[in-house]
Amino acid sequence: MGGLENGATYNQNSVPSTNKTSLSPDSIINLDQGDPTLFEPYWRKMGDKCTLVIGGCDLMSYFSDIGNICWFLQPQLGDAIKGLHRAVGNAVTDGRHFVVGTGSTQLFLAAIYALSSPSASHPVSLVAAAPYYSGYKDQAEFLRSGLYKWEGDARTFDKDGPYIEVVTSPNNPDGAIREAVVNLGEGKLVYDLAYYWPQYTPITHPLDHDIMLFTFSKCTGHAGSRIGWALVKDREVARKMTEYMQISSIGVSKESQLRAAKILGVLSEGCQNLGTAASENFFEYSHRIMRERWESLQNVVKNSKIFSLPRFPQDYCNFTGKYTDSNPGDARNKILIIIISSSSSSSSSSSSSSFEIGQPNNSAVCSKEDIDWESLLREHKIIGRSGEKFGADQKYVRISMFSPPEAFTLFLERLSAIIDITNGNVVGGEERSVIKCS
Ligand code: PMP
Repeated sequence: MGGLENGATYNQNSVPSTNKTSLSPDSIINLDQGDPTLFEPYWRKMGDKCTLVIGGCDLMSYFSDIGNICWFLQPQLGDAIKGLHRAVGNAVTDGRHFVVGTGSTQLFLAAIYALSSPSASHPVSLVAAAPYYSGYKDQAEFLRSGLYKWEGDARTFDKDGPYIEVVTSPNNPDGAIREAVVNLGEGKLVYDLAYYWPQYTPITHPLDHDIMLFTFSKCTGHAGSRIGWALVKDREVARKMTEYMQISSIGVSKESQLRAAKILGVLSEGCQNLGTAASENFFEYSHRIMRERWESLQNVVKNSKIFSLPRFPQDYCNFTGKYTDSNPGDARNKILIIIISSSSSSSSSSSSSSFEIGQPNNSAVCSKEDIDWESLLREHKIIGRSGEKFGADQKYVRISMFSPPEAFTLFLERLSAIIDITNGNVVGGEERSVIKCS
């Protein structure tokens, strides 16, 4: 299951993503998963505010709102989603059709189904700019559909005819703010906005695209509820997306929808008290946690010539009313790529800017570029995800910043040890065997 985002590489010795584990020096730290349990303490503090009691006779019907295109959408969830986008200011909801899905994973498939044409002579091409979220390729290829075909990196796509481009912004894995790159006549766009929330990035304006996907998983951390939603301009596209859901799962769990509605409602309410001493809003809390993690990671890698982190230009966040700049302490992204540059002549990582695929952040290219860094980190009991899974290179490794606190601390310790052993220099040949013995 290696390519999947959320389950995947668990084994008996690895640490599952939960705050309830205790680690030993021998534990394998699994930073491959994007399982956002680190926000759990906030929701525990909310106590019964988010508790929902569902009786045995409740919610038995398949149907929720038969007058709505998305007939299985619980109206309470629709209202809560609208209220939250209004409070945060990250997306236009007026005049949009709302489609609920079992995570945004199901909505992604629903969207590409809706945008493809059964009568076309060829499958529609599906692309995303590398590095792209590894789930798109896995999902698009899994059932060998004749409707669409995964064509990989949007930057190198040059075929004539219809295509679908997925734009992920902020991007997973590197956190970059993105726009479409292909821009040809017959293209259709799906915006995956899983991370367009204030804890990950400044909210600069309400987005207004034809199809926008969001997920409860990354908004609040409740990945286990499996709720996502799409805001869709075109009625026929919304109808086809609903049809996909009808055929694949006859709707979406009502229990999950009501739980999501309750929690999103509490979240929106909290936005009213933003910046007051009343109580810390979830977005302030989660932003603080991410910033602290980012700062400690930056501190550890700052003197290393082998590891570096992506950085981004500053921007004003309309939600917090603060200007957040691109200093290394800025925790805009919770999922990071650690860029591992293998040249001993590279400059300090803290002075590197955001990277381009195919252009290492150091100018000198040497043979050590071939090192499989995912495997090397694995030798140090750190499981990350190779850049190859994102359509990039094996010299990049994505480290999920969502791990439980204990695992994150151990990760930093191991990273420091690697940096100490190599004296901040390149790891290859003999140095690599030194590193292996640690
Ligand atoms: N899009 C992106 C960019 C993601 O990172 C993820 C999950 N890691 C998803 C979609 C899928 O999220 P969900 O849990 O809602 O299926």
